[in-house]
Amino acid sequence: FNTGQGQQLLPAPTASKPQQHAFGSSVAVSSLNGNPAKQFGKTGGMGGASPTPVGSQPKAVPISSLNPYQTRWTIRARVTNKSQIRTWSNSRGEGKLFSIELVDESGEIRATAFNEQVDKFFHLIEVNKVYYFSKFNMKIANKQYTAVKNDYEMTFNGESMLIPCDDVDTLPMVQFEFVPIDTLEALKKDTLVDIIGICRSYEDATKVTVRSNNREVSKRNLHLMDMSRKVVTVTLWGEDADLFDGSGQPVVAVKGARLSDFGGRSLSVLASSTFVKNPDIPEAFKLRGWFDSEGRALEAVSISDMKSDLLLRDGATNWKTLLEIEAEAMDLAGKTEYYSCVGTVIFLRKETCLYRACISEGCNKKVVDQQNGFYRCEKCDREFPNFKYRLVLSVNIADFGSHRWVTCFQDVAETLLGQNAAYIGELKDTNEEAFEEVFQQACFCSYMFRIRVQMETYNDESRIKATVMNFKPVNHKEYSKKLIMNIRNYAAQLN
Ligand SMILES: [Zn+2]
Repeated sequence: FNTGQGQQLLPAPTASKPQQHAFGSSVAVSSLNGNPAKQFGKTGGMGGASPTPVGSQPKAVPISSLNPYQTRWTIRARVTNKSQIRTWSNSRGEGKLFSIELVDESGEIRATAFNEQVDKFFHLIEVNKVYYFSKFNMKIANKQYTAVKNDYEMTFNGESMLIPCDDVDTLPMVQFEFVPIDTLEALKKDTLVDIIGICRSYEDATKVTVRSNNREVSKRNLHLMDMSRKVVTVTLWGEDADLFDGSGQPVVAVKGARLSDFGGRSLSVLASSTFVKNPDIPEAFKLRGWFDSEGRALEAVSISDMKSDLLLRDGATNWKTLLEIEAEAMDLAGKTEYYSCVGTVIFLRKETCLYRACISEGCNKKVVDQQNGFYRCEKCDREFPNFKYRLVLSVNIADFGSHRWVTCFQDVAETLLGQNAAYIGELKDTNEEAFEEVFQQACFCSYMFRIRVQMETYNDESRIKATVMNFKPVNHKEYSKKLIMNIRNYAAQLN
């Protein structure tokens, strides 16, 4: 917002080499002014609040030199993070605060504003802009809540000043120290880490209630993958969760995410964390290039517990052919594995797909027809005057190398058949032709199946038990890339 020419002719003041700088055209923001105003074209004239004599430059000192024993200083720093406004309420009263993170060539520091300072400064400070800061209180940093590497932190007071600065090129952006996802498992719980990854998939935002204050907050999980080929679940909260758009599989970088060991390893983006989508840094470009050329087609292994199997939404994981799944299943020995595979429905076992289930809520057990108009549920130990139909559908799926029976339970079977169980049951009892038609319609359709595979042993005989968790239309672009990768891999093996 500054186009003043005078300033461009003047060298920028830097931490190491202070230069003459006349504030020629900087936009001044004075905190002493009860109604903070942007003053264009002023020459440092901010009354008693000016950190330096009128017309002279602020002597910017490096952030690394700040300590609680010196009070008269000015730093020139880029705002790399600005938190949302948070409120608190306890026995001693209530209030609000926000914090910012500042970076210059020498280091970084956090600054926190409370109450009236929140009203004065929050809307004036823009992330990524550079400002002169002066007249702040200094205190020992509480490192539990921040990944900012500084023993001290700044607190806004009634005298605090910040002045926008246009000479921004020399100052670094957010400083990250990324750790690869595959090293997270070796780190201690609650460690704050910097992470970068491709947002391979993401979930919808949901509302959760925070137990401590009984307040509702939005939450959204992202699944980040990096060149270690591991995937970690990262949770966003509040506005970050509501506003996040993961379309196009962007690069995501987080500074100061907290490591949790809840359900495998996962990360939480805290109010103090810096969250950047598609950051303008070399690591991001390298990752983008890698993902687009090969990472996309690689199978990714999550170090987080993904109960809902949501990776499937955008990218298949552990993608195998039916032959490969069969070969691997031999070694499963009691373990459960999940696979993605592309297959075509070639046969549906319609005769045995319906059963009569108990109508009591959540039971779903098979009932026995008592031949007297009542149906008995052994589990509930009761007889009911009716039942409901449920589906357990055996489906034969095939790819170019093999074919296999897989089981689809209720919801998955209803989706595959395009009708609900009650209606299919009604057709079976009343209209055989229409019943047939439902199954014919479902045949010879191709999908990307997500399959759970276990090895079962009956009378010394091992059998593969495969259950369809969900399925979706084949993404031919993604599938073709996978096949091309396979061809390249085979070619590499031949050489
Ligand atoms: Zn029952």
